[in-house]
Amino acid sequence: VSEAKPGLLDGLDPEQRAAAGAPRGPVCVLAGAGTGKTRTITHRIAHLVRSGHVAAGQVLAVTFTNRAAGELRSRLRGLGVEGAQARTFHAAALRQLRYFWPRVVGGPQWDLIDNNKLRLIGQAANRAGLGTEIEVLRDLASEIEWAKASLVMADDYPAVVARLRRDTPEPADRIAQVYRGYEELKNNARLLDFDDLLLHTIAALEEHSAVAEEFRDRYRCFVVDEYQDVTPLQQRLVDAWLGGRDDLTVVGDANQTIYSFGGASPRPLLEFTRRFPEATVVRLERDYRSTPQVVALANKVIGAARNRPAGSRLRLIGQRPDGPEPRFAEYEDEATESTSVAARVQDLLELGVPASEIAILYRVNAQSEAYEQALAELNIPYLVRGGERFFQRKEIRQAVISLRSAAAAGQRGEFVDSVRAVLAPVGLTEQPPAGGGAAKERWDALLALVELAEELAATVEGADLDRFVAELEQRAAAQHPPTVEGVTLASLHAAKGLEWDAVFLVGLAEGTLPIQHADGDDNAIEEERRLFYVGVTRAREHLSLTWSLFRSGRNRRRSRFLYGLLPENHPAARVARSSQVRSSGQRQACRICSGPLTGTMAIKLGRCDRCPSTVDEQVLDRLRSWRVNRSRELKVPAFVVFTDATLVAIAE
Ligand code: ATP
Ligand code: MG
Repeated sequence: VSEAKPGLLDGLDPEQRAAAGAPRGPVCVLAGAGTGKTRTITHRIAHLVRSGHVAAGQVLAVTFTNRAAGELRSRLRGLGVEGAQARTFHAAALRQLRYFWPRVVGGPQWDLIDNNKLRLIGQAANRAGLGTEIEVLRDLASEIEWAKASLVMADDYPAVVARLRRDTPEPADRIAQVYRGYEELKNNARLLDFDDLLLHTIAALEEHSAVAEEFRDRYRCFVVDEYQDVTPLQQRLVDAWLGGRDDLTVVGDANQTIYSFGGASPRPLLEFTRRFPEATVVRLERDYRSTPQVVALANKVIGAARNRPAGSRLRLIGQRPDGPEPRFAEYEDEATESTSVAARVQDLLELGVPASEIAILYRVNAQSEAYEQALAELNIPYLVRGGERFFQRKEIRQAVISLRSAAAAGQRGEFVDSVRAVLAPVGLTEQPPAGGGAAKERWDALLALVELAEELAATVEGADLDRFVAELEQRAAAQHPPTVEGVTLASLHAAKGLEWDAVFLVGLAEGTLPIQHADGDDNAIEEERRLFYVGVTRAREHLSLTWSLFRSGRNRRRSRFLYGLLPENHPAARVARSSQVRSSGQRQACRICSGPLTGTMAIKLGRCDRCPSTVDEQVLDRLRSWRVNRSRELKVPAFVVFTDATLVAIAE
């Protein structure tokens, strides 16, 4: 075993280096967001490979989302490590299962359940005498997922939930009945759900010694990122992989546990040393990602958390130079919020921030629509959820098929043009479709293929259609989508582990974050708070927190998580306070002249018809924040009411 080339670990601080450079064996890094956990594990893998402790192909690194796995892969590539696997738990299990299938089950491989899950649950619910409304089925599906992730079988389910005093969406014995029925229907139809992928892989390794032996030879070094979100099922899989060995590196932050509703627990992370007393344990507290302004906010957010387990009370210390203060903005309704956010995105683009360095993050996917529209109106490119499942998209599968047959037919010529020609009938029109939405998303996905072809043409000599199709197939197997250049729209869950120069956390209102159904449940509220913390800590430099007082036909209050975060003199602090006083939640006075409001539209807009909307909402917003900064010099009272005339006067 030779020493690693000098330099590899130079880019790490002493604590990170201790973890990355530790000899083979158990390693645990417990640390807050942005402290370099992921950086530490990628360096550790590179170090172990370069120093000859392990071959790249013997490394298996797992995490929870496709994007995070993609991030791991690209960082490993950046360190010159080729051939190490970095996948989600499910993708890793699927791959192993495909390989072992002929020996452990035999016969044709089963299909993934995909969109049939709710249908089967519906049949099982019907048999159990339960309702089959879509909300009921969704609740049943997540409860069954929780049970499987927690390794609770249908027969044990009622006893376990009674012991845990768990709130169940339906009576426990009925749920057990649906659970059993669903398993039976699914197995008869030869279908596998996501949890089955893990369960079957575990069974293959635990029950087939030849399979286990082969596996032990194949993989020797295991790494888990985001270990705070491991479920008992995933832990069992990791244990099956290890098969009694101890070459396991885990990193995580208990304050970022955001899947406990699905059975995840930070306990294996916090109790790692109990299991491996000889483990190298490292704690990190220097935050390399975010400006001190963002770090200060993050510390406040998580400082307010209740019941933080011992071992998770770390404070982040910002390492980067100062940046702008986080920006808070309150809007009348979601439409105004989304158009203002889009305008602000435009400003950042004009300042030179690349679109791929900007993200708009929200609590539920349904929120994306308003932002898609607002961005599309300004012709700002965006991608929803970062190209996840890119290769499963219908138009991409179709495109790959068409490209493959064009290549087989020997289509020749300057080759990027032939890619364009093949993709035209699949939907790649000359101009993007008008408006935003799904059509634009499809078009963008196809365009990404053309851009990939251009990239290949520019970097590989003699690249042709054959070579391009091979590249696509390889990428599809590795779930490595081409990067679509654009602003990222993603849920907070999907944003875990990632970072952007500029982050907009939108919809920070009660009922959205925290989400409605968390209300009144302390544990659920704390999970929502951690989700908020995950969001705040994604920003390197610019952080905007926005919310609106009206969304989906209802009045809203700003999120409880904003208390204590808003700067004292912020206009929103006043608006929000006054909205709490109004018992009905309806705005009753015009926000420009304070006169009475009559008529639904006026109430919705918060503006009486005597005060016409000559002031562009975005200008108003910009002037408001500008005024906060300038108010001292201008000596205006803290909350002067602006009329159009004063705004114009100040602007001049
Ligand atoms: P999260 O909890 O959000 O997953 P993390 O702890 O995994 O965060 P990383 O993503 O590894 O943090 O690192 C955050 C950022 O800080 C990255 O851009 C990384 O390159 C940078 N970074 C980490 N450590 C160092 C270091 N020692 N020197 C310079 N930059 C660093
Ligand atoms: Mg990370």
